[in-house]
This record gives sequence, C-alpha cells and structure tokens, in this order.
Amino acid sequence: MKRPPSWRCAERHTGWVSDFGCTENTFRPDLVFVSRRKVIFVHGCFWHMHGCKLSRVPKSNLDYWIPKFKRNCARDARNIKALTAQGWKHLVIWECESRNINSLQKRLKKFLA
Ligand SMILES: [Zn+2]
Repeated sequence: MKRPPSWRCAERHTGWVSDFGCTENTFRPDLVFVSRRKVIFVHGCFWHMHGCKLSRVPKSNLDYWIPKFKRNCARDARNIKALTAQGWKHLVIWECESRNINSLQKRLKKFLA
C-alpha cells in the first residue's frame, strides 16, 4: 500500500518511524503530523470491530474471525497506549464516520487546531 506523503515526510525527518517500525508487532498510523505530535488512524469498521452495521461478524468460520477481531482490538489498544505514553495525541476516524464530510471536517479541524 502506498503511504501518504505525511508518512514519507515523517520518515525522512524524524526517528519516530523507526521507533514504531513496521513489523508484525508494530504499527503505522494513517496520517502523522510530526510538528503537532498528532496521529490519525482511519479504521475500517469491519476489521476493527466498530460495532456499527458495517462491522457485522461473519456467520461462518467463527473460530477464525473471533480471535482475529480480538487480536486487532487488543493491538489497537496497545498502539494507543504506546503513543499516549510518548506524548502523542491520536484521533480515530471510523470508516462509517468518514461518509459525513461536514462532521469529519469539524472533527479534523478541532483535533489539529
Ligand atoms: Zn462504523
């Protein structure tokens, strides 16, 4: 997946990326605002179990899906905790929320102010 320009900038100018890395046990937020020390995650409702209508659990193969969803949610919580401990602020934008552009703009402006 092609990374957004903000990531490329972050990688070039800071050591932050190497701290978090990009291996199986680490992560990358979707957008990074280095000077503000803020990151934005854009979560797919299905994969991150938002609880909305887009995040219905499949009806079959539950032995696969339930543990996978639990791992995803646990990883999200770990990531947020690690970021917060290092003084970063975060915003999670859910897939379903991104459809209301006006509301999304307001949240982004408030978060990045
Ligand atoms: Zn949702």
